[in-house]
Amino acid sequence: MKTALVLGGGGFIGGHLAKRLKEEGLWVRVVDIKDKHEFWKQNEICQEYVSGDLRDPNFVESVFDREFDEVYQLAADMGGAGYIFTGDNDANVMHNSGLVNLNIVHYATQAKVKRVFYSSSACIYPEHNQLDPDNPNCEESSAYPANPDSEYGWEKLFSERLFLAFNRNYSLDCKVARYHNIFGPKGAWRDGKEKAPAAMCRKVAESDGEIEVWGDGKQTRSFMYIDECVDATIRLMRQDNFRGPVNIGSEEMVSINKLAQIAIDCSGKDIKINNIDGQDFIDKYGFPCPLGVKGRNSDNRLYLKKIGWEPSMNLREGMEITFKWINEQVNEK
Ligand code: NAD
Repeated sequence: MKTALVLGGGGFIGGHLAKRLKEEGLWVRVVDIKDKHEFWKQNEICQEYVSGDLRDPNFVESVFDREFDEVYQLAADMGGAGYIFTGDNDANVMHNSGLVNLNIVHYATQAKVKRVFYSSSACIYPEHNQLDPDNPNCEESSAYPANPDSEYGWEKLFSERLFLAFNRNYSLDCKVARYHNIFGPKGAWRDGKEKAPAAMCRKVAESDGEIEVWGDGKQTRSFMYIDECVDATIRLMRQDNFRGPVNIGSEEMVSINKLAQIAIDCSGKDIKINNIDGQDFIDKYGFPCPLGVKGRNSDNRLYLKKIGWEPSMNLREGMEITFKWINEQVNEK
């Protein structure tokens, strides 16, 4: 029986990925600092759920106590714009995720794992290539000279290089992908770690008249539905010719106001969008509006060329499913 280790499998992408691997017939161990997955039953996603802190080298060593065919490294200290872009969590994000990745490359190499996947992020791309909301450049080769707009992005860039250096010097067989805004049900939807699609769905589900949208709403992004992210991750992992780094995301770029409108349309309610920015935002929250770059879109040409696959699901379809799930959470609450 093939075996897989999903580090950070107590989180959003890791939970869906572990579930898919188990359904495919692999024996799956999930590791996370959380003592259980908030939205999946343990036997839906794995045979073994191990709770522990991947910043602790002794714990990481113990996690590699058996052979794994596939190791997926998704554990990170992360969240949406309200967590990553205010600056308040910079030291923790860099320190926590840095320690996790340093431990994992070391012990994965010692344990001679067959292959390890590392989840980087579109946040590594230079700010100066993402100033025009209509024409951002996120081609893989544009990553250097580096200038990410957040410390989260700098840590991801460091860790990409860390995995690739362990490949060159210690033959650690790794694959590196840069995820672009993954969304879907069974992920963070409140408490400040949620990202834009979940935040919009929650605000709409909770509102009767209007919702607040941060910024002027003209900033652009693309969003990939979780099932397609899992497909793309596994396809990259299971071929022998290409290591990455490569984008995994959708090329359907929309403005944030358009995303909000899609959430409203999914609800069937009559809701107005209220954009809040500049001094109004500072007066209300006490810090500048945490927006991130002006424009960002996945560029899937390299993935298509190397792996021969591209996503096909449109944003509205994924938002319907996500809104339905978040609406249920809000009503249960
Ligand atoms: P998530 O926060 O839902 O999952 C990350 C998991 O890592 C969490 O369950 C968390 O408890 C765990 N973790 C954090 N620190 C840990 C530690 N010290 N020890 C053990 N577990 C620890 O995030 P996600 O959305 O599932 O993202 C997965 C990966 O993909 C992350 O590395 C993230 O940076 C990357 N990524 C995600 C997106 C996205 O849109 N979701 C975009 C770009 C990159």
